[in-house]
Amino acid sequence: MKTEVRAKKQLGQHFLNNLQISEDIALALTTPPHDVLEIGPGMGVLTQFLLNRDDVNLKAVEIDGESVVYLHRNFPDLKVIEGDFLKMELSTVFPGDFNVIGNFPYNISSQIFFKILEYKERIPAVVCMLQKEVAERIVSTPTGKEYGVLSVFIQAYYDTEYLFEVGPENFTPPPKVKSAVIRIKRNARVHLDCDETLFRKVVKGTFLQRRKTIRNSIMAAFPQLKGTEHPFYQLRPERLSVDNFVELTNFVQSTLTEE
Ligand code: SAH
Repeated sequence: MKTEVRAKKQLGQHFLNNLQISEDIALALTTPPHDVLEIGPGMGVLTQFLLNRDDVNLKAVEIDGESVVYLHRNFPDLKVIEGDFLKMELSTVFPGDFNVIGNFPYNISSQIFFKILEYKERIPAVVCMLQKEVAERIVSTPTGKEYGVLSVFIQAYYDTEYLFEVGPENFTPPPKVKSAVIRIKRNARVHLDCDETLFRKVVKGTFLQRRKTIRNSIMAAFPQLKGTEHPFYQLRPERLSVDNFVELTNFVQSTLTEE
């Protein structure tokens, strides 16, 4: 159909063509608040089911001008913000808390999550479709082979659920990778019991060399730790829970401030 949006690879455009899956994603958002931001509506396949919900007050952000024209034409009531989610001032979108939903552009999905984490106090829940490997990383628990930086950062503030897998045949054009839908919900943690900037450095520094023991990687990241001992030093980073990383961060902090 000539009225359809031409898929642009650089924008991660793979349009879902399965209505049942679209509806399942739209209904997977099960908790308040009513205000919901959809990232990347494209031609509105999820949007239509979200607009059908009486308990959802929807706004959408879409970077692609051609999709925005299509959405205005086909969903005149939809509030569309034309722009880049990553550059958006999220605090102005809704007056209070809001949930996030979307079939995310896979090339920027980690960046989307880092932005969501910056606004975690305002975003109680997220339902999204992602590349399957990234979805698995986000929900992976300690000792899982997918467990990594993104798992620790997200699980520090959100409970995560893997909902279902979606094959490439359900998209036009089909992506080269498998996809999966996840749901994350804000947990009770208000802040970490440690310096959060140092926490991020410790987590990133240890996972930089995930096959090495923490002794090796932490000394590389913080040479001042030479000569110290800690029970976690003999483990690999994938063994540590969020609370373990908090403990390790406080240990690093105490050693740094001793000097
Ligand atoms: N939700 C639609 C489209 C998914 S493809 C569907 O399921 O069919 C990803 C969508 O995100 C595309 O419409 C793309 O234009 C949009 N997008 C890509 N980068 C974006 C960004 N930085 N901000 C907002 N939207 C973006």
